Amino acid sequence: MKQRLLFGTNNQHKLREIREILHTQYEVLSLADVGIDMDVEETEPTLIGNAFLKADAFHKASGLPTFSDDTGLEVDALNGAPGVYTARYAGENATFQDNITKMLKEMRGESSRTARFRTVIAFVDGANREAFEGIIEGAITEAPRGEGGFGYDPIFQPEHHNTTFAEMNPDDKNAISHRGRALKKFSTHLLS
Ligand code: IMP
Repeated sequence: MKQRLLFGTNNQHKLREIREILHTQYEVLSLADVGIDMDVEETEPTLIGNAFLKADAFHKASGLPTFSDDTGLEVDALNGAPGVYTARYAGENATFQDNITKMLKEMRGESSRTARFRTVIAFVDGANREAFEGIIEGAITEAPRGEGGFGYDPIFQPEHHNTTFAEMNPDDKNAISHRGRALKKFSTHLLS
């Protein structure tokens, strides 16, 4: 029987991506699968702080081995912003489109467009508290391209590629993405 893990997120896009990566070895349960209807406010000033805030809360609520992730987009021309504020870049209830529009406006005319996605996964079970980080370097495009993925995918082009994340098929994105890389470290740890 596959080991059961709770992924403490309400983001269906992340859940789908993570199941695509871990499904051969693990049964990844969502918050809805275990009947948890709860939002954890991301009040910490760091990705790792917020990842543990969520993993601890959902572990406490479920009693299951639990992991949560927090992701930030760091744009060099914006001194690393939006970073920990990536989800709320265009305001508290910003949509993906609002955030993209604001980013393209801030970056208009900017020739230095390097950026990176950083994901921290926090894992909590009875005995362990561990964190795993994944990074992908890339650049903010001049205009959105592609229909796939979610969030900032249409305006993020990973280095050594000439397509945005939104133009890639999911397997190709997962193979190099920040979350894919953090997950690889996490699953290696789980298997060791
Ligand atoms: P959080 O980890 O849910 O707080 O995500 C922070 C922000 O980064 C949200 O606006 C997400 O839409 C965005 N984000 C997270 N992962 C990705 C990704 O793989 N591609 C594009 N945007 C992402």
